[in-house]
Amino acid sequence: MTLVDTPERRQLRELTRSFVTREVLPHLDDWERAGEVPRALHATAAKLGLLGIGFPESVGGSGGDLLDSIIVTEELIRSGGSSGLVAALFTHGIALPHMVAAAGARTGGSLGGRLGATSPPADDGLIARYVRPTLAGTMIGALAITEPDGGSDVAGIRTTARRDGDHYVVNGSKTYITSGHRADFVTTAVCTDFPGSGELTLLIIDKGSPGFTVGRRLEKLGWHCSDTAELSFADVRVPVTNRIGAENTGFLAIMQHFAAERLSLATQAYATAQRCVELAVRWCRDRETFGRPLASRQLIRHRLAEMHTRAEAARSYVHEVAARVAAGEPVVTEVAMAKNVAVAACDHVVDQALQLHGGFGYLRDAEVERHYRDARILGIGGGTTEIMNEIIAKGMGL
Ligand SMILES: Cc1cc2nc3c(=O)[nH]c(=O)nc-3n(C[C@H](O)[C@H](O)[C@H](O)COP(=O)(O)OP(=O)(O)OC[C@H]3O[C@@H](n4cnc5c(N)ncnc54)[C@H](O)[C@@H]3O)c2cc1C
Repeated sequence: MTLVDTPERRQLRELTRSFVTREVLPHLDDWERAGEVPRALHATAAKLGLLGIGFPESVGGSGGDLLDSIIVTEELIRSGGSSGLVAALFTHGIALPHMVAAAGARTGGSLGGRLGATSPPADDGLIARYVRPTLAGTMIGALAITEPDGGSDVAGIRTTARRDGDHYVVNGSKTYITSGHRADFVTTAVCTDFPGSGELTLLIIDKGSPGFTVGRRLEKLGWHCSDTAELSFADVRVPVTNRIGAENTGFLAIMQHFAAERLSLATQAYATAQRCVELAVRWCRDRETFGRPLASRQLIRHRLAEMHTRAEAARSYVHEVAARVAAGEPVVTEVAMAKNVAVAACDHVVDQALQLHGGFGYLRDAEVERHYRDARILGIGGGTTEIMNEIIAKGMGL
């Protein structure tokens, strides 16, 4: 039995699979065309306990740790969903953790809610106003770090927040923000010193605050069911009580929570690869050329074997690194390697899977076509492949 193959986790897998089959698959094409998933989906996922996985019960979550979150992500994609769906429905996975950590809420432990044990309640203004309603599926949150001038250089953030009595006055803009259109609030990285100084603070900014404008919906290569927005702030007054933790602790908080985001993206990458292997195997068994199924040819079987090997190797490595993160080990370099390994496996597999589908693979009707487009963001979001290599090189002492 592997680390992720416990009876409790098999139950979680089954729950996720039935959620996708009943609530997602009949509608996913419509959501891709609409450019977003409906708010009601958040409430449904919350009722099942899926939205709260990885968050402690003390803040309204379902309990569980990083590996449980990984299982949900994996199964959402393997049962026919997509990484775009994960991005849209689980944006709270990047919007909330800084608040939960700042409130000192206990994380980890066994799955709670529908699935197991309980933990004592954490009480804090931000938890009550944002975390609980989001995990209950009645609010949507987003995380805004990236700016038009750059995303890789987080310390270079130029959106400023100037203290004015009990408020901050925020000016600047953000871009490529996942769920930015639907979000009721945005966990926003601002500079609390001169622009580019690296002195960052995280503020929660409410939709509807005077001066806060949500710009046009950005059109993208993939992740069509996930809305992506530009945001701008002109003298937006944000109460000091909406600050996460102390002033100038934002950079550290962002870096600490990158591990979970990067492992989620790594999971989306290997799970997409696994799904595409399954789709390609099915296709190659059914499709006949020159009077024989494609899968009867050694060249094709070997290609499928290589695709499967890359997907499984990536999965094993991501699980190992996730288990080490969940155990509290400082594995920043390994997280970066896990992301790059999984993204490389995914890039190879989606390309080969589409090729094996021939002309059909290029059509919107083919599921593999969606995965091919969706996969391209995984080596860009949450820190690019090049930035991961920088981290790995640093870890090597270079
Ligand atoms: C669909 C989508 C959803 C997103 N969602 C969010 C979100 O919810 N919140 C959010 O804050 N951001 C989000 N992002 C932004 C994403 O995190 C950034 O695009 C990413 O971090 C890269 O930043 P950038 O686009 O500014 O590229 P840049 O930083 O300008 O980099 C451009 C290129 O140069 C390379 N590069 C940069 N610096 C170096 C270096 N020192 N050495 C070598 N190469 C380098 C990069 O790897 C990249 O290839 C999203 C982006 C997309 C497309």
